[in-house]
Amino acid sequence: MLARLKNNFYLAMLSLVGLIITLCVTPYGIYRLLSGNTIVGVADLAMVLVSICCVLFAWRTNNTKGPGLVMAAVFCIGAILVCINLGIDGVFWVYPFIVFIFLLVSPLKALLMLLLSLLVLVSYALLNPGQIFASPFQLVSFTVTCFVTSLFAYVFAYRTQTQREALKVLATTDSLTGAANRRTLDEALITAINQHKKHGTEFGLMLLDLDFFKQINDNYGHKTGDNVLSDLVPILKKMVRQRDTVFRFGGEEFVVLLADIKQADLAKLADKIRLGVNALLSLPDGKKLTTSIGIAVLQDAESWESWLHRADIALYQAKNQGRNKVVLAE
Ligand code: GH3
Ligand code: MG
Ligand code: MG
Repeated sequence: MLARLKNNFYLAMLSLVGLIITLCVTPYGIYRLLSGNTIVGVADLAMVLVSICCVLFAWRTNNTKGPGLVMAAVFCIGAILVCINLGIDGVFWVYPFIVFIFLLVSPLKALLMLLLSLLVLVSYALLNPGQIFASPFQLVSFTVTCFVTSLFAYVFAYRTQTQREALKVLATTDSLTGAANRRTLDEALITAINQHKKHGTEFGLMLLDLDFFKQINDNYGHKTGDNVLSDLVPILKKMVRQRDTVFRFGGEEFVVLLADIKQADLAKLADKIRLGVNALLSLPDGKKLTTSIGIAVLQDAESWESWLHRADIALYQAKNQGRNKVVLAE
């Protein structure tokens, strides 16, 4: 549970907002109902109920986009109703809601939702003078402070989002080749095992190792070796399907993870890749390179370590059989 909160920013924010709303708004909702203000009481309790349902849905499905949007929309409508019904007493609630909305949806969506809500509220206030704000001066102050708060919250949320995305790329990608890194591979293999157990999805794995790569470093220099590795990844990506992932396993070894693939198709694709690498990957003097590939289809009740190990043994056999070969694991 803690790991999910740590890894999924929006799930953590949704849960935090849900918790705060439940703790802070429930007593107000009950008080408003008991004191006869049904509209505000119902609006408060509806916000609490929707928040709880959205948080539970997000935890069950791991989908945070839909629930975040629903919660944000309900908060906007709720804040408008509370302001209209409570007047200036309700207006104080708008400011924490501005922050909540930015925690629930993407920065641009949050800004648009808030500007639209502000427009509705200001229009209502202009059409009903004296109901929410005591004077035009109060209305102008509210509009300006709301606008400025939303704008700065947007700048802050946008910056945080871009930094979070950049950090994610750094943490999941191999910097030399742009392939997914070893850490991501471990997570992807665990996810594959779970999907196979749950839905019976078939998975295939290829373990590729460039042949005689050490000689390239020795004869052409380390930089040329690096270039070969970065040239290889786009070649692999072009030959697999969009949803298949290419990982750098380490050194000059790469893994391709493929979902919904039968053993025969996996073997065909691996051979296509072997020929493709030989045709497209070359050294500065035009000399072609070859690769050996071990392939393994995920077996029922198999661990990811054993799956990878079988592919590794198959790769070892491909090397022993003279390299530039594809070998299917037992
Ligand atoms: P084989 O056909 O048996 O695979 O022979 P090989 O020479 O490819 O295999 P070996 O494992 O002996 O050598 C791999 C070499 O890859 C050794 C290491 O110096 C080199 N290497 C590992 N990582 C990098 C890298 O990031 N850049 C470069 N240029 N070389 C690397
Ligand atoms: Mg190697
Ligand atoms: Mg090698």
